[in-house]
Amino acid sequence: MYRTRRAISTAQGPAVRIAGRELLNFSSNDYLGLATHPDLLQTFKQAVTTYGLGSASSQLVCGHSVAHAELEEELARFTGRQRALVFSSGYLANLAVVSALVNRDALVIEDRLVHASMIDASRLSQARIQRYPHADSNAVEYVLKNQQAGRKLVLTDGVFSMDGDIAPLLPLAGVCQRQNAILIVDDAHGFGVLGPGGGGVVDLLGLGNDQVPVLIGTFGKALGAFGAFVSGDDVLIELLIQKARSYIYTTALPPAIAVTVMRALSLVREEAWRRGHLFDLIRQFRDGCRQLGLRVSASETAIQPLIIGDATEAVRISEELYRKGILIPAIRPPTVPAGTSRLRISLSAAHDESQVDYLLETLGEVL
Ligand SMILES: *Cc1c(COP(=O)(O)O)cnc(C)c1O
Repeated sequence: MYRTRRAISTAQGPAVRIAGRELLNFSSNDYLGLATHPDLLQTFKQAVTTYGLGSASSQLVCGHSVAHAELEEELARFTGRQRALVFSSGYLANLAVVSALVNRDALVIEDRLVHASMIDASRLSQARIQRYPHADSNAVEYVLKNQQAGRKLVLTDGVFSMDGDIAPLLPLAGVCQRQNAILIVDDAHGFGVLGPGGGGVVDLLGLGNDQVPVLIGTFGKALGAFGAFVSGDDVLIELLIQKARSYIYTTALPPAIAVTVMRALSLVREEAWRRGHLFDLIRQFRDGCRQLGLRVSASETAIQPLIIGDATEAVRISEELYRKGILIPAIRPPTVPAGTSRLRISLSAAHDESQVDYLLETLGEVL
């Protein structure tokens, strides 16, 4: 279970270099290939010239810039919400949301597979915590009906980070509306990728503010940058500005990043072919796995886990793939439940068909 890191000496992309060797990378969250998009690099360089490097302070002192303000307006439009608030990371955004919304006798109900940042957020809030079986909206309704609490929050990923499946948000939203609970959706892996406009899982399923009143997205994955946001109504955003300690007591996102993320949002729309190509590769991969007799997961997103089970075996396979020029670290407990160690394969619009063919061929040999 000992963890090690490998230092990459190139930019992120479908191929990276480690210790002088080129490896095909199937483990990145740069789903649209925007991390090296020439327009974004150019935008960033210009923005650094205007705004400098760091933000020099937290948002409430002097770190809030016109770049942040404009990005917030654009994010509100993009997600179809009244307002949005920019955070320095997704981890901090989740801490903020849960801590600001929890009151004295709140109950937090969370999916068993929710992201670690949500788990930490609920623990830090000191609320009562109840976990429910993965994706089971009936279990949520049962808990909500049978437990008294001052305020009830339901936490879920939009796209689950280690499994790639999409949360059952339509039934969950219905349950929360009936039982007067607040549904909080962390769409770190759906934002930019899913839905007709790339607005993520709420765009895919057509869920408005009434159904999903608290939406979190990040800029470090499909948008290829760094940072995060929360969007919702005016009251929610004001509450976060006034009360969320992980908003107030951290250095603001560098303004040049905010400018670059703004451009990345427009690229999500202008270059919709990236999403089309990504979904073609997902189909190619899943069809290929079936032909090889590998058990594909239920995921139809860019995250395509191959469950190995035993942690030692998962590491052995990952190392063999590495020797054959493919980078897919093994994901083990406590990141995933015991007995479900896996290869978390992720695809990107930056890959091409022949790279996915090579991956399939190699998996065929190794597995
Ligand atoms: C990556 C991730 C986060 C954390 O976002 P950062 O910006 O990397 O801190 C939060 N939630 C989920 C589901 C994630 O996958």
